[in-house]
Amino acid sequence: MLENVFDTIIIGGGLSGLYAGYLLSEQSRSFVILEARKRTGGRILCPEYNRFFSDLGPSWYWPAINPSLAGLIQTLGLEGYRQSEDGLGRFEDPNGNIHTVRGYSTSPASFRLNGGMNALIKKLYERIPETAVKLDSPVCEIKKQEDGVHVHVGELEKAPRAIFKTQKIILALPPRLAAATILFTPDLPHRLEQAMLRIGTWMAGQAKFYALYDTPFWRDAGFSGQAFSQKGPVGEIHDGSNHNQNPYGLTGFFNFPASRRYPGPSFTKLILEQLCSIFGEKAARPKAFFYQDWAMEKFTATEFDQAPMYEHPVYQPPEDQTCFWDRTIHFAGSETADLCGGYLEGAINSARRAVSNLYEN
Ligand SMILES: Cc1cc2nc3c(=O)[nH]c(=O)nc-3n(C[C@H](O)[C@H](O)[C@H](O)COP(=O)(O)OP(=O)(O)OC[C@H]3O[C@@H](n4cnc5c(N)ncnc54)[C@H](O)[C@@H]3O)c2cc1C
Repeated sequence: MLENVFDTIIIGGGLSGLYAGYLLSEQSRSFVILEARKRTGGRILCPEYNRFFSDLGPSWYWPAINPSLAGLIQTLGLEGYRQSEDGLGRFEDPNGNIHTVRGYSTSPASFRLNGGMNALIKKLYERIPETAVKLDSPVCEIKKQEDGVHVHVGELEKAPRAIFKTQKIILALPPRLAAATILFTPDLPHRLEQAMLRIGTWMAGQAKFYALYDTPFWRDAGFSGQAFSQKGPVGEIHDGSNHNQNPYGLTGFFNFPASRRYPGPSFTKLILEQLCSIFGEKAARPKAFFYQDWAMEKFTATEFDQAPMYEHPVYQPPEDQTCFWDRTIHFAGSETADLCGGYLEGAINSARRAVSNLYEN
């Protein structure tokens, strides 16, 4: 049932996989991107309301320390804007008492992207042949054979839905997810497999909400929209507004771990009640409300990602290897980057490294 033969197969259509595809397109190489979800973007997800795109994954980039991403944004004709930070901050103590505190400006300056981070994904997608991206194609097995590598799409224990053949693979998904969910034949070397499993996927255990309003009532009251809470469920809140125009938004992350979160109306109510106690009653009735729990996403998080990560790890390629199986399989994906791992910048850097190593002897 061997259907498709390509010089390179990219597994994962997040930013890293799409950027690798974009680079290979520029070199007129034969490749296909196999993406498990029915959409591209991976951890980048931006539902639309009134032509505004709410970032439920990454929101920020830092041009001063993200040169590759800033360059790509420029090349793709996109524009960013400064994170709104003017005004006073709010702090909720463990007993739910609210305090007004000094605001702060992030340094280096944080920027958001016009059109949301999904604008990056859309622009890259436009520059890749449409037939090169296969959605709804979860890779379950990678088998080394005499005539090359066979990549099975479907579910383990069931007949593959499709089999692709190639000489080179770019593994553009978190290494922990690859080790936990894809069967490699022959087995991955034990130390490499353990190293891959140990690399936590950045923000995979997190969830994010977005509440959109017609007016920036918190700014009108002198607040920046930044708030921190030791009570929860939300732990960190920011202004997530469109570039100084409607809709205006509050967005944030949780200090409740995955085990205490549950999607649905009663959890939404809890979040809105907390927003009201921090920013006032106008927070109770957003025009739109979005919530995404990444810990529940099987193409992002594994059972090992359910516990919160409190610090950003220093990422590097697993076991310091950028490839394995005799340079057949190359790591991309942000968590394998040598620089800025875990971030969007790392997704781009790792893809560029994988593509430039692909045809080196
Ligand atoms: C809530 C949140 C907030 C964040 N905030 C920021 C921020 O402000 N700034 C920043 O720089 N970074 C931030 N990040 C991190 C950033 O999102 C990631 O670094 C980046 O998106 C990773 O891209 P990637 O392509 O490496 O991985 P992913 O986006 O995870 O892409 C991997 C792709 O592989 C696919 N896949 C998985 N399994 C398979 C399989 N078996 N077969 C085929 N395909 C498969 C997935 O569906 C996915 O599309 C945040 C992340 C989250 C979740």
